[in-house]
Amino acid sequence: MPDPQTPDSASGYSGPTRRSFLIAAGAGVTVTAAGIWLATTPEAPDSAMPPLDPDNPRGLAHYDPVYPRAARGLEAPLGFENCANPTARARRDIAGSDGHVVTPVIDRFIIHHTGTTNDQLDFLSRCNKRSSAPTFYLRHDGSVIELIRPGAKPSSTGADWNWRSVAVETLAATGAPEYAVTAEQLEELSQMIAWLATFDGKSLDGVPVSFTIDREHVITHQETWSGTECPGPYLQARLDDIVARARDIFLNELT
Ligand SMILES: [Zn+2]
Repeated sequence: MPDPQTPDSASGYSGPTRRSFLIAAGAGVTVTAAGIWLATTPEAPDSAMPPLDPDNPRGLAHYDPVYPRAARGLEAPLGFENCANPTARARRDIAGSDGHVVTPVIDRFIIHHTGTTNDQLDFLSRCNKRSSAPTFYLRHDGSVIELIRPGAKPSSTGADWNWRSVAVETLAATGAPEYAVTAEQLEELSQMIAWLATFDGKSLDGVPVSFTIDREHVITHQETWSGTECPGPYLQARLDDIVARARDIFLNELT
């Protein structure tokens, strides 16, 4: 069933705005500096502050990430019942469109892509229009931002999968049709998977983990729902290699 909250194979939010501006400029429309600022600045009330830090464009509070390879953890208003009023966390013991009760477990690592190549950290640092709340955001250079704690329920893959998963949004390095990613991103995906496997039979950030490194437990968005091409053909074709590399890291570097 489609997940209406997270059609994340669509273009990112900031893309159309910038494209519209470029089209306007190319057509010879006079655009003032203020016009540029208005055209490229999101609508949130705190947007008067210029971006200060590319790893924290919204100036969010941050914390030492649970995932040790992450550059930082941001206190993004994501993964809550209502991100406009971020007080109650979305519960990992609630699953499905009918909201039935489950016993929380992390037993899936689910790979997504952004579907757009321009940086999405600003979009993912606020109560965004897709209610997208991945656990991790993975950039072209392989750097990772932890957007919600791994114990928190992501909102990335649909109600039948969010409760049992951690999810990564991989910033696409090229557009359609391949949506390629970089070698650094492929390596980092394997590193994340190997790290998650070290928690098998234990708990991660308060949630029990049952996770082994194989293609049952490492899946992509399109493997949960045929209505999306996420994470694109390039990443999809490399899943077996990502899993093999993760197993190598797990056996030879982490244990
Ligand atoms: Zn996806």
